[in-house]
Amino acid sequence: MQEQQEKLTNKPRRCRVLGPVAYEYTAANTGSWRLERPDVDFSACIKCGTCEKYCPTNVITIKKDQKKCVEIDFNYCKGCGICANECPKKCIKMVPERSEG
Ligand code: SF4
Ligand code: SF4
Repeated sequence: MQEQQEKLTNKPRRCRVLGPVAYEYTAANTGSWRLERPDVDFSACIKCGTCEKYCPTNVITIKKDQKKCVEIDFNYCKGCGICANECPKKCIKMVPERSEG
C-alpha cells in the first residue's frame, strides 16, 4: 500500500500508512502554517526554562551558556504564543511572520 500511495502521489513519503484511513505522520514542516512567530529579547531573559516547559510542540531549547539562550526550531513552531504568554519576564513577543522582528 505504501508503494502504491507513493506512485499515485509521486511525492516523497512523509507518513507511514497503517491502513486505508490511518496514517502515522513522521515529518512535516508545520512551521509554514504560522502567522506569527516568537521574538525573544535575550537581554531580558533569565534562562528560567518556562517557555521550554510550556511549548506544546517541544521546539524550544534553552542554551544557558549562550547569549542567544532561547533556541526555537522554526520548522515546527506553530506560532501559538503560549511561550510569550507564560514567560515570567515577558521578554517574548509575538511578531507577524513576515516582519523583520
Ligand atoms: S509560539 Fe508556540 S510552538 Fe512556537 S515556540 Fe512558542 S510555544 Fe512553542
Ligand atoms: S520563559 Fe522567558 S525568561 Fe524564561 S527562558 Fe523563556 S524567554 Fe527566558
